[in-house]
Parts: sequence; C-alpha cells; structure tokens
Amino acid sequence: VATATAKPATTLDDIFISIKTTKAFHKTRLDLVLKTWFSLAREQTWFFTDTDDAEYQHKTGGHLVNTNCSASHNRRALCCKMASEFDAFLQSNKRWWCHFDDDNYVNVPQLVTTLADYDPQQDWYLGKPSIRAPLEIINRDNVSQRISFWFATGGAGFCISRSLAFKMMPIAGGGKFISVGEKIRLPDDVTLGYIIEHLLRKKLTVVEEFHSHLEPMRFVNTDTLARQVSFSYSQYGSEMNVLPVDGLDTRLDPTRLLSVHCLLFPNFSYCAT
Ligand code: UDP
Ligand code: MN
Repeated sequence: VATATAKPATTLDDIFISIKTTKAFHKTRLDLVLKTWFSLAREQTWFFTDTDDAEYQHKTGGHLVNTNCSASHNRRALCCKMASEFDAFLQSNKRWWCHFDDDNYVNVPQLVTTLADYDPQQDWYLGKPSIRAPLEIINRDNVSQRISFWFATGGAGFCISRSLAFKMMPIAGGGKFISVGEKIRLPDDVTLGYIIEHLLRKKLTVVEEFHSHLEPMRFVNTDTLARQVSFSYSQYGSEMNVLPVDGLDTRLDPTRLLSVHCLLFPNFSYCAT
C-alpha cells in the first residue's frame, strides 16, 4: 500500500548550477555556454569569476559573481572559487548543488532526469572519477599513515544533495573549504573528495554520464547523446579532443558543442542549415 509521503518530483528549479570561470575565459568560453545550454537554465545557473565585467554581467542576466578570488590557476585561487560556490548554494535553499567548469556542456533536461533518481534528503555525492583507483595520500595529521579516497573530477561536473551539504557545512562552510585545501595541498575537486569520503565517510556514487576532457571524447557513444549529462572539449597541441559529431563546419564550431546542442535541440536559430 502506497504511503502519503511520496517525495516531490525533482525539477530544474531544485538545482543550483555553479560554473567556475576566470576573466580570461569570459569571451573565449562563456559565449559558447551562453549560446547553447545556458538558455535552458538561465534562472538556475551562476558564474563564479574573479573580476567585475559589465558586459558579461548583462549577458548572463545578472548571474556573474565576482568572488574576489585571485585570477590565477593555483590551488588557493581554485579552492577560493569552490568555497564561494558552496557558500552560495547553502544560501540558495535549493535541493541540489551541481558544479561544472566553463568548458563543459550541460545537458539540462538529462541533468534533471538523472537527479530525479536520488532523494536530496539523503546524502549524495554524484560524479565521475578520472583515475582508475582511489587517490592515496599521506595523512598530514599522522604522516606514518596513508589514506585513500575517491573524488569526482571537477571538469566532468558533480552534484551534491542538500542533506550532504549540511553535513559539510561545519568543515567547509563560511570559506573554510580554503583552509582544508591548504592543509592537504591538493586541488579543489580532490579537496571535496577528501572532505566527503575521508572526513565524513560518505561514498562517491559514480555516474557514468558525466564526461570531462580527461577522457577521449571520441569514445562517447553519440547515439546516446541525449542520455549523457555533461561533455567537454580540449586541445592537446594540434589534437582536438572533441565529440565526433557531424553538424556545423569545424571552423564555425571547433569544439563541436554548437553541433551537439543542435542535435539535442534542433529548434535553435543557428541550427537550421
Ligand atoms: N580556471 C580558473 N582560473 C584560472 C584557470 C582556470 O578559475 O586561472 C577555471 C576555468 O575557468 C575552468 C577550470 O578552472 O572552469 C579548469 O580550467 P581549464 O579548463 O583551463 O584547465 P583543466 O584543469 O581542465 O586542464
Ligand atoms: Mn578544462
């Protein structure tokens, strides 16, 4: 017999989406995000950067946050942004926090569908590792000990339920995330795994549908694009690591993300050929 306590269905409005970016990438990366998936989650998505930028403040509909973190690629600067994203989520009262990088494509409807399988009142850390075995580090509290834990690669995106975020608050809230990163001297996504898996003893749940450019994009099955949550792109020397999709000319769409967006949502103006 069904009880009367069915949990409410998950909607896009239950999600706080934070994107880490930096001054130098507003033009080169945010334009692509704004032209594609952002238009499907304008109210829910916020960009965390390191400068004021009137043009992009306007283009994002007022969703550009100047974290005042340093505009460099060091651990402290990146942990500073992650701290700011986490604190903004805590203040948002949303059920889910999902982080992505500015070189991710987020398949918005599938993100909602994926999260609907999990109860945000339980502790969930969802994402995908980019290493085959848990990370092993020396325990800085006791250097004769090694500790190991999994972490979700930041560049593939990850989601954390509100229930878990509440438990993280005493350790990572109010900017304390930065101190944890300083202590273990590892990147922001690793720091998150350390807090959740090692300190809180909660497990990462692997969701295969998150993809970073640390995996070869040519291996993503393009027949199942609609069921994937995130994609990315990168360039190693002259080699492009991009999804193998047909569509727009590679000169117009070197990252293939416009073409991916057109395959998923053919009604966008620039998709008609
Ligand atoms: N990033 C940043 N500050 C920097 C460099 C990068 O906030 O000085 C952000 C960037 O916007 C992206 C993420 O960090 O969201 C990862 O950067 P990138 O893709 O350049 O490097 P990766 O780690 O993926 O090789
Ligand atoms: Mn990247």
